[in-house]
Amino acid sequence: MPIQFITPKINVEVLRRPINPERLVKRPKIIMKDSEGREVKTMMRAKVLTGHSEQDGKPIYRHLISLCPQCEPANPNKNCPICKGRGVTELFTNFEKVLTVDGEEISGGISYWIQHEDGTDEQTNKFPRSDVLKVQMEMPRSKLHEFYFDGGWDELESPIKKKKGEKVHNKYVEQQLYKEAERYVVEGIIGAGKFVKSESFREWFFVCFPTILDNGKFGWLIGYTTCKIEQTHLMDVPIGKEVEEEQKIPAKSYLPDLKALAS
Ligand SMILES: [Zn+2]
Repeated sequence: MPIQFITPKINVEVLRRPINPERLVKRPKIIMKDSEGREVKTMMRAKVLTGHSEQDGKPIYRHLISLCPQCEPANPNKNCPICKGRGVTELFTNFEKVLTVDGEEISGGISYWIQHEDGTDEQTNKFPRSDVLKVQMEMPRSKLHEFYFDGGWDELESPIKKKKGEKVHNKYVEQQLYKEAERYVVEGIIGAGKFVKSESFREWFFVCFPTILDNGKFGWLIGYTTCKIEQTHLMDVPIGKEVEEEQKIPAKSYLPDLKALAS
């Protein structure tokens, strides 16, 4: 279905073509095994808050599945509004992850494995959280529109110290960040590297670039990505003489004015 594309200067009919991001990275399938090599799965189990610890105030949870107050356990009412015929009600306020082998709860002794497509497994572990955002490559800013930022965005800010009860930003850091921001703008470049946001199996590419506003402010944006945008509906840049818009001839109404109905 064509739609109108309207800017302050043009008004044309266009087709909207959704983009499927092209994955740069195929994430490996990670499985867990117990000490005997059996595959471990996680199950979510309902928990209910029953109070708080007297020592440290931490919440105390209890697993709760209770019988329906309105039904006979052996013979629940199919139309019961509380249990909907199940005879039990589950009152959860929270969930916890439970490790199981074939539905049996187990604890401890878990190892992580990459499951390869050829059926072999290779032992692995979680990446520790990165504490360095290191630009390992710089590239032209025009590349920016090629990335599909599936991992969201961050801003950089200079560290804050409290001086005489007032929050003060580190001016040296801001100077350095601005110097580099100017270089990035002048050279028309963006930076790129790799980053792990939290202890996990997920690694990201990051792309960073400065934003310099005309109100005297500046910043740095960090976008996380594992995908590229592939434009598959590019058009030829028009050459030669200007083309006239195709004239559409509207249907000519032949009904007289509506007032004719009343006369
Ligand atoms: Zn019931």
